[in-house]
Amino acid sequence: MTILSSVGCQQALDNKAEPLIRTEFLMDTVIRLNIYDRKDEKILDRAIDRLKEIEEAMSTTISTSDISSINKNAGIKPVKVRKDVYQVIKQAKVFAIATDGAYDPTIGPLVELWDVASKNREEVDSIPTEDEIKKAKDLVDYNDLELEDDGYVYLNRPGMKLDLGGIAKGYAADEVKSIFAEEGVKSAIIDLGGDIYAMGNKGKGKPWRVGIEDPFGAAGSYLGVSDVEDKSIVTSGDYKRFFMYEGNRYHHIIDPDTGYPTNNEISSLSVISDKGVDGDAVATALFVLGIDKGTEILNNFEDVEVIFITKQGEIIIDEETMGRFSLESDELKLVVR
Ligand code: AMP
Ligand code: MG
Repeated sequence: MTILSSVGCQQALDNKAEPLIRTEFLMDTVIRLNIYDRKDEKILDRAIDRLKEIEEAMSTTISTSDISSINKNAGIKPVKVRKDVYQVIKQAKVFAIATDGAYDPTIGPLVELWDVASKNREEVDSIPTEDEIKKAKDLVDYNDLELEDDGYVYLNRPGMKLDLGGIAKGYAADEVKSIFAEEGVKSAIIDLGGDIYAMGNKGKGKPWRVGIEDPFGAAGSYLGVSDVEDKSIVTSGDYKRFFMYEGNRYHHIIDPDTGYPTNNEISSLSVISDKGVDGDAVATALFVLGIDKGTEILNNFEDVEVIFITKQGEIIIDEETMGRFSLESDELKLVVR
């Protein structure tokens, strides 16, 4: 069994054919592109160029990005953005509405305040004050994100900030997939830091086997395997980016209702869907909502399956998804419902 990608929460397992591989650090993560049925480096070049373009347009930390310019002009004036940026923001708003704001692309002020990204797993001696959290939380509201017909985007109030971190990788995976398809690729694994798009199958009609990472295990260990063909598998988890304060873990997914990193029964969850963009937004939303409320909103989406892993070490899966899943851990308990 060959593990093709050891970084991130998903892994494509056991393919014997030698793929054409490209690895890069982009979008704040390790990107691995593997093509199995073509040997043309130019296809990889095109894909990487597209990923760089997406990062340059959608990053909150690159000051020249379209997102930065929307944020700088919050409460001042609408900003004309690239077509692709506009489309992603539009979809983000649709997901915000469909998840009742559990996924909210205007989460920026809270992301900036908690700044989990720069406190990588460290023990810190303070966290934001109640007052700071309240002020930032008041600036988070997708209803104040306006999309005008002619490609302009406007945040209604000064201090508001867009952050597409919960959706951009899913979108990017879909874009790479489209490029691959245009180039005639039929069998590929697109791995954006553990968020995977498994394109086609691994040959001879056999599905890809994607490892679902164990949130309690060593980096790269997986608790089970999911058989997929032409599917995105995206994971949101509390173990990916976090810091410690007084013995508690503060991770990177924030509940827009409380202003704090979510604290429910979920440790991680993986969403299997046709499109990466759907899976990514839904995964972030489910993480915020918890299992019961999350399962309710799942009815709003087609072609979305989910595997929840609780802090208690249970894997919660429905019967349909169980059809493609096999458990490979003795420590976790499988609950099919
Ligand atoms: P993911 O790993 O896809 O769940 O996305 C987490 C990233 O999305 C964070 O690093 C933030 O940039 C952003 N984010 C955090 N909380 C939320 C939220 N409630 N809604 C939308 N985006 C969020
Ligand atoms: Mg997400």
